[in-house]
Amino acid sequence: MYPKPFGYYAPQTPVEAYELVGRLGGKAKILAGGTDLVILMKDKIISPENVIDITNIEEFQGIKYEPGKGMEIGATTKNAEVQFSEVVKQKYPALAYAAGEIGSSQVRHMGTIGGNSCNASPSAETPTPLVAYGASVVVSSATGEREMPVEEFIQGVRQIDLKEGEILTRIKLPEPSPKLAAKYAYMGARDANEIDSVNMAVALELKDDKKTVQSVKLVMGSVFIKPLISKAVPALLTGQEFSDDLVEQAAAAAQNEAKPISDVRASAEYRREIVGVLARRLLKEAFAAAQEVK
Ligand SMILES: Cc1cc2nc3c(=O)[nH]c(=O)nc-3n(C[C@H](O)[C@H](O)[C@H](O)COP(=O)(O)OP(=O)(O)OC[C@H]3O[C@@H](n4cnc5c(N)ncnc54)[C@H](O)[C@@H]3O)c2cc1C
Repeated sequence: MYPKPFGYYAPQTPVEAYELVGRLGGKAKILAGGTDLVILMKDKIISPENVIDITNIEEFQGIKYEPGKGMEIGATTKNAEVQFSEVVKQKYPALAYAAGEIGSSQVRHMGTIGGNSCNASPSAETPTPLVAYGASVVVSSATGEREMPVEEFIQGVRQIDLKEGEILTRIKLPEPSPKLAAKYAYMGARDANEIDSVNMAVALELKDDKKTVQSVKLVMGSVFIKPLISKAVPALLTGQEFSDDLVEQAAAAAQNEAKPISDVRASAEYRREIVGVLARRLLKEAFAAAQEVK
C-alpha cells in the first residue's frame, strides 16, 4: 500500500520546474493530481526516485477564452473546473460533459486535464472530445515550446511525445465554428468510478439548408491504443443529405475501423457492437443539435 521512498520537489515557477525536470530527467516523474500516478506508485508498478509536483505553478493553471481565437486550458486545471466552467460548457460542451464523467467528484477535484492526456490510457475521457474539437497540446522546457495535435501527442498505451526536460503546460482549442455541434458519450459497467469500455465524440456542421453535412469528425476511445479518428465516416457523410440510411452505413464503417481488444472490462465483440450504438446515437444527436444552431 505504501510507495517506496522518493524525493519530493514542489517548484513554484515554470523556470524552477523546467530546471528540475531537465536536471532529474528519467529519475523523476511529474506529479499533477496524482489520481493515476500515486496509485501506480502505491502498487509499486512504478517507483520513481523523485516526484516533481507542478500543482503550485500558477502559469500552468486556469481557463482562458478569447472570442475568435479559442481557448487555452492550463495543464494542471482540475477536471472539475473544466466540467463546471460556464465558458467551456458554452463553447465546448462535449468536453465539459466528458470531464464531468471522469470517476467521481473527489477524483475530478484532484485529477487534472493535462494528467488525463499524459497518462495516455486508451479509455481516458477527455482526449476523445479534445481530438474532435481539433485541440493541440503545448509542451514546454527550458529551451522553448512545441505544439502538436492531441492525437499526435498521445502515441499509444502510456506513450506520449514528451522528451526529457519537457512538461505539458497547456491545451489549446481552436474557436469552434458557430455552426458546429459536438456530442460525447461512453459506455461502461456503471455510472461512477468506472473505466469506459468505449467512448466517442462527434463534431458535425451542416450547410445553410440544415440538411447537408458540411463537415463531420467522429473520434473513438478505448478501441485502439490511442484516440482513433474515423476516416470512413467523413467520406460517407460529407456533402450528403443526412439520413437514417447514411447513419447506418456510417455506424457500420466506424465498427469496421475500430480495433478493440478483449480485457477485463469488455470483450472485443461487445466493444465493436457499442461503437455502432454510440455512432448512431451521437451522429443523430449532433445532427439534431446542428439543426437548432441559429
Ligand atoms: C477511482 C478513479 C476513477 C477514475 N475514473 C476515470 C474515468 O472515468 N475516466 C478517466 O479518463 N480517468 C479516470 N481516472 C483516472 C484519472 O483520474 C485521470 O486520468 C486524471 O485526469 C489524471 O490526472 P492527474 O492530474 O491525477 O494525473 P497524475 O496522476 O498526476 O499523472 C498521470 C501521469 O501523467 C503525467 N503527468 C501529469 N501531468 C503532466 C504534465 N503536465 N506534463 C507531463 N506529464 C504529466 C504523470 O507523470 C503521470 O505519468 C480515475 C482515477 C481514479 C483513481
